[in-house]
Amino acid sequence: MSKLFIYNTLTRRKEEFIPLNPPNVGLYVCGPTVYGDAHLGHARPALTFDLLFRYLSYLGYKVRYVRNITDVGHLENDDDQGEDKVAKKARLEQQEPMEIVQYYSNRYHSMMSMLNALPPGIEPMASGHIIEQQQLVKKILEAGYAYVSNGSVYFDVPRYNEKHSYGKLSGRKIEDLLANTRELEGQHEKRNPLDFAIWKKAEPKHIMRWPSEWSEGFPGWHVECSAMSTKYLGEVFDIHGGGMDLLFPHHECEIAQSVAVSGKQPVRYWMHNNLITINGQKMGKSFDNFINLEDFFTGKNQLLDKAYSPMTIRFLMLQAHYRSTLDFSIEALHSAEKGFKRLMEASKTLKNIRPSEKSSVNIDEYIMPAFEAFDDDLNSPIAIACLFESVKMINSVKDGNESISLQDLSKFRSFFNTVVYSILGFKDEETGDAGNLASRLVDLILDIRQEAKQKKDFRTSDRIRKQLNDLGIEVKDGKDGAEWDWHNL
Ligand code: ZN
Repeated sequence: MSKLFIYNTLTRRKEEFIPLNPPNVGLYVCGPTVYGDAHLGHARPALTFDLLFRYLSYLGYKVRYVRNITDVGHLENDDDQGEDKVAKKARLEQQEPMEIVQYYSNRYHSMMSMLNALPPGIEPMASGHIIEQQQLVKKILEAGYAYVSNGSVYFDVPRYNEKHSYGKLSGRKIEDLLANTRELEGQHEKRNPLDFAIWKKAEPKHIMRWPSEWSEGFPGWHVECSAMSTKYLGEVFDIHGGGMDLLFPHHECEIAQSVAVSGKQPVRYWMHNNLITINGQKMGKSFDNFINLEDFFTGKNQLLDKAYSPMTIRFLMLQAHYRSTLDFSIEALHSAEKGFKRLMEASKTLKNIRPSEKSSVNIDEYIMPAFEAFDDDLNSPIAIACLFESVKMINSVKDGNESISLQDLSKFRSFFNTVVYSILGFKDEETGDAGNLASRLVDLILDIRQEAKQKKDFRTSDRIRKQLNDLGIEVKDGKDGAEWDWHNL
């Protein structure tokens, strides 16, 4: 059994991953705020944690994967001020907030499915968990770590910091934070500028509001993730993921809220993906370099020279390690497109390799390093490099310079397909999912037919050839194995 090591943001080192309650693993990932289309920045956390989910599942863990949808309480300036992002969009579009939420959630799901990111097992929405959030606010108040001010409830950061350490995750010190805060308008309700709202009284114009014992209002943004992760994964769970932009204050506040109530660190391994820059600049709506995912697929964006397929974007993301910054440029896109094409060509080459009596190569030398790379904090770029190395070996077999036995070939094909399609989550965009699965099934059937022939069971081998032929698959026997093709191609 391999040992997976992951970098834990909380301890700042790579640690062996040991779940609390194996084979179960609890995984919580902060999802999108649904008030606009998914852009390149959304793809990175989605694909980082898709890779983690896929790899943990491959290792045999039973993963409960929870990724929330933020549809309430995320205010414009990521702090306690400004209009709710969803409500603002609803006002501008003259729609119900829930119409905005539904519309952009549907579009987010369709983008994720194009990128072949597997859906989470539970996708809770903040608006559907108001009661749980109110209960959490109540518990924090009872524990003495919050106070009511003018109908809003604020988390008391200095009070919390007396017993616990606020800033532990992001490595910030409360004195430095205080020195760097400026008084914002409307903050007179807070005792201290670092305090954050866990319940906010709604202004008269505010549309998304719920009754509570403190005021008619809405929960603070950080409360939803604490309330929903506790509900579905428990007070203490294995892995919490998200983008590095969420490290502070969002995740820091999540820890404070949970510790205030239970006294326990809620998360055992914190994982953060690094951010994307475009030509070296931070990407964001305030910058001129904002590219929606859909723009890549249609090519309709002035920063792009043409359309790029979803798998090119997936390859681009996975070709960088999730903890490195990924600098996006047209050149990087071109090279990802080329790299993905090479990988798919290798997959086709592998289909037509013919086995020999004996292997001249040691396939384990190619298989082991790829899994070692995944085990080393999900090092997908190294794993992809290993695949390309193994393709060189396969090409030498094809050219007759090396040989591979049927047993090794089956094992190697299974390794290659598992890594490319199941773990890295690529799909062949020419043949699609069904075509890709069909190809793999034909390979499998022909391997079984080859074994039948070796055992001189010609009745079975002839039957397989005839029945594949009836299905439109032509099997050509060569002297060291069979090749196949679709009749109509
Ligand atoms: Zn969150």
